[in-house]
Amino acid sequence: MTSADLPEPDSDELKALLRETEQQVIYRLLYERRDDPPTMTEIEAFYADQAGGAHAQTGRRLRDMYAIFDMKPERRDGVWVYPLRGRATSKPSTTTRRKGISARVRGEVLSSKRCAQCGKTPTDDHVKLEVDHKIPHSWGGTDDIENLQPLCTQCNHDKQAFYSSMDPFEDQIRAATQHKEPHRRIGELLKAFHAADVEAPAQVVSVVASMHQYQDDWQRRMRELRVLGWDYTTSKRKENGRMMSYYRLTAFADWPDGNIRAEIERLKKAKKNPAG
Ligand SMILES: [Zn+2]
Repeated sequence: MTSADLPEPDSDELKALLRETEQQVIYRLLYERRDDPPTMTEIEAFYADQAGGAHAQTGRRLRDMYAIFDMKPERRDGVWVYPLRGRATSKPSTTTRRKGISARVRGEVLSSKRCAQCGKTPTDDHVKLEVDHKIPHSWGGTDDIENLQPLCTQCNHDKQAFYSSMDPFEDQIRAATQHKEPHRRIGELLKAFHAADVEAPAQVVSVVASMHQYQDDWQRRMRELRVLGWDYTTSKRKENGRMMSYYRLTAFADWPDGNIRAEIERLKKAKKNPAG
């Protein structure tokens, strides 16, 4: 990929691709700083300077550009930066390299005869059940039976729509799922969304928290992060008839050197018995 693919800032070609003035302004900064990509804070400051005022939606405008340009954030020297790499390429299909699920496993997953999300059944509700990956392949999920569940066509469709809205964060989500400790998976995920100035959806946090071992109380794991000096705010809103929760990180700290859970227990105890 060379920057020859990239239109010049303020060119007609660019204006045809990015209709919003704000995106054109952001593009100019990303283009000029291809060798030294800016952080979100720098992008916001640049925009505020150019436009004579800050814009609350800068993060969203930036994300909307992912569909046109290859510019997803990456971590360099401990901070998230936005390198403009070239034009976005359509994603290669992951289905081709999949081994696939055997008929036996498929039969086993569907044997519950009930949608794992809404509970509807083919017999009573005339829904069609499909095999769904709880954690998608692109986030590091496997074809193991533990990662499969039956979903009705409607629930599966809604889930796919939501997950594709998370595509810009695919790399960060997959990176967070790699950690062995649930606190660290949750924390690193929140940090990734924080770096992109986006609220982390509870739905994604719960999936990533349950990656290597199912977490029936991942909210508790989240609260325990506060013991380590982390903090976050929660917001809830109704979207398409469903109540959605989001988290926004407001403080975070380095991970302890040793076992995270042991350190949390130690700090909890120390707080209870300050003398001891
Ligand atoms: Zn369903």
